Amino acid sequence: MDASAIISSLNDAQRLAVSAPDRATLVLAGAGSGKTRVLVHRIVWHILINHIQPHNILAVTFTNKAATEMRNRIESLLNISTRSMWIGTFHGLAHRLLRQHSKLAKLPETFQVMDSDDQLRIIKRLLKNLNIDDTKWPPKQLQWFINSQKEEGRRARHMESNGDIYYRQMLAVYQAYEELCNRSGLVDFAELLLRAHETLRDNEELLNFYRSRFQQVHVDEFQDTNTIQYAWLRLLTEGKDNLFVVGDDDQCIYGWRGAKIENIFNFQKHYPGHQVIRLEQNYRSTGHILRAANTLIANNEGRMGKELWTDAGEGQPLSLYTAFNEQDEAHFVVEKIRLWAREGGLRSDTAILYRSNAQSRQFEERLMTTATPYRVYGGLRFFERMEIKNALAYLRLMNNQHDDASFERIVNTPTRGIGAKTLDNMRSLAREQQLSLWRASQFMLEQKQLSARAASALQSFLSLIQKLGQDSTDLPLHEKVKFVIEASALLDLYKKEKQDKGETRVENLEELVNAARLFDYQNNNDDEENLSELDMFLAHATLEAGENQGEAEEDCVQLMTIHSAKGLEFKLVFMVGMEDGLFPSQQALDDVGRLQEERRLCYVGITRAMQQLYLSHAESRRLYGKDSYPRPSRFIREIPEDLLQEIRMRANISRPLSTSPNQSQKISNNSAYRLGQTVRHAKFGEGVVLQTEGEGAEEKVQINFRNEGIKWLMLAYAKLEKA
Ligand code: ATP
Ligand code: MG
Repeated sequence: MDASAIISSLNDAQRLAVSAPDRATLVLAGAGSGKTRVLVHRIVWHILINHIQPHNILAVTFTNKAATEMRNRIESLLNISTRSMWIGTFHGLAHRLLRQHSKLAKLPETFQVMDSDDQLRIIKRLLKNLNIDDTKWPPKQLQWFINSQKEEGRRARHMESNGDIYYRQMLAVYQAYEELCNRSGLVDFAELLLRAHETLRDNEELLNFYRSRFQQVHVDEFQDTNTIQYAWLRLLTEGKDNLFVVGDDDQCIYGWRGAKIENIFNFQKHYPGHQVIRLEQNYRSTGHILRAANTLIANNEGRMGKELWTDAGEGQPLSLYTAFNEQDEAHFVVEKIRLWAREGGLRSDTAILYRSNAQSRQFEERLMTTATPYRVYGGLRFFERMEIKNALAYLRLMNNQHDDASFERIVNTPTRGIGAKTLDNMRSLAREQQLSLWRASQFMLEQKQLSARAASALQSFLSLIQKLGQDSTDLPLHEKVKFVIEASALLDLYKKEKQDKGETRVENLEELVNAARLFDYQNNNDDEENLSELDMFLAHATLEAGENQGEAEEDCVQLMTIHSAKGLEFKLVFMVGMEDGLFPSQQALDDVGRLQEERRLCYVGITRAMQQLYLSHAESRRLYGKDSYPRPSRFIREIPEDLLQEIRMRANISRPLSTSPNQSQKISNNSAYRLGQTVRHAKFGEGVVLQTEGEGAEEKVQINFRNEGIKWLMLAYAKLEKA
């Protein structure tokens, strides 16, 4: 590509930013104005015009998905490989730094990253060990306390132990928690950032190496950096003129995780020679969508103030749907998407955005019943979940018996009666003789140093690992994974675990098989490094935080929280669950600061839509096992009425009607059933038809059974007899 093309597809303000001379630069602009595009073109500019090597460039984005997209865009613009360029999230890059310099970071080489579930579990265990009353010091609160200290760069030892007993106790737990993590080589998410910062700060040589390596540093979504992330950036760039950040104060949505809008002001203070560039044209959305977003966000105070305009035309009005419950909402949304697809639209251009992960279930069910392909993003980092890490540890150990981290991880998962003493002896033997744990245990068995029970438990573990390897040699990758999950008894372990937790873990294991299947498929012909397919898959699992795992080739509807939709765009967007108490959340209803953050979140959601935006709310909702009758979200009321078009409830989806015997009209034109018609079901007995929904094979019927109450049934399966 020739240089002029980097510039020709930009407007003047964007060009100014892309070609700016080296100087700390802040691009401050609203949603859809091309900030990310500017960032990508700026990198391309450096490579093409300033002849900077990809190796000398650092780019930080907010999600792995965004990082991959950025990499792809740069590669397609330049037609070169950008493998040596550091592009990633703060967490991903910090992780990379710690892995490469684990010694300087004072971490064991095999340190494990734990997700917030694992972290919470450890805190709970700690409270028990320390005999601390977990009603006075709830584990979640402690977790929040610990993480926020780390996000501010504070270690327990830096903090003064005065204040009330409540505070002192929290501090004591923080300290004990740090000790435990250090002892066992565990690193939580906040620790990744803090430790990476400390490692650079305290090792001058290392810092100088990276300061000169990263000649140009770029940050997307700068408004959401927290204290420690910003400190990290400063270490690398302060006193130089190579920091280029883009952001939008109206899209700061991670305040609850320590993000600081103030960093935008701090930037202006810490980089005195900086320049600010504003972009005002929006290229993403239609006029109606943009006006809705602008009007909504105008209700916030203390904004830096930005104007956005578009020449894309008004487009269609926004649609508002009032569902009678959450199932009806899901039904409505999925029908609209299916219509879109039938008319030739891509499913991947559609997104269902919700406030909290728990809301996805209804939509997933509906998408499944209608056989509509979909993909759920976000939630916890997939490959970092405990059950996934356990399954991967089996695969790793099977692949390399001397992988001590994996050995440690699963030697007693599921429990097989290998005692702490046996393990301790094994560890000292391994340390003294410089053996892997695997060799050490073989040695102990040969020397008959163990009790009969311990020996047999250990022997059966070693045999199991060997047998897993032998029996799966000829299987394709995904079957190998499946085989190992089953034969290791991990699957059974989680099946027995109580409640949703176990269920989710089982689902995740199934998803791992799926990820392996898709990986297998995408990498069939990729033989460039001399690695087995399993090797490649395992490396992929370590390096990817998992947002992209198993991304199907198939055309899928996109489901995610509004938080994880940041930076993305879709032609057709559904913002669902627009209800007071859900969005804005209950806590935000009586806290102005939080309400403003929720409003920014709503602004982010609205501005994801390119062509069409649907808002929906339900009159009754069951969530977290409770029924509620919420009011429509105040955010709906903040959107000018003339931009909103109300969609009526469909006649055949309504609240149950009273069933008077002389009503004999058909419920809907295409249903074979009448309102109030008496029917008989093999299991539920006799009842009367209240309403039907859907058509053909998907027709459902709601019946009030004399003895069983009201039920919805799929007509095709219900085998009803007309009485
Ligand atoms: P957000 O705040 O949501 O992250 P953004 O400011 O990063 O948004 P981009 O995602 O970079 O915006 O751009 C929004 C859309 O507008 C993209 O589809 C992008 O390709 C397009 N776009 C940006 N600038 C131009 C331009 N000069 N000409 C044509 N399309 C453009
Ligand atoms: Mg962006």
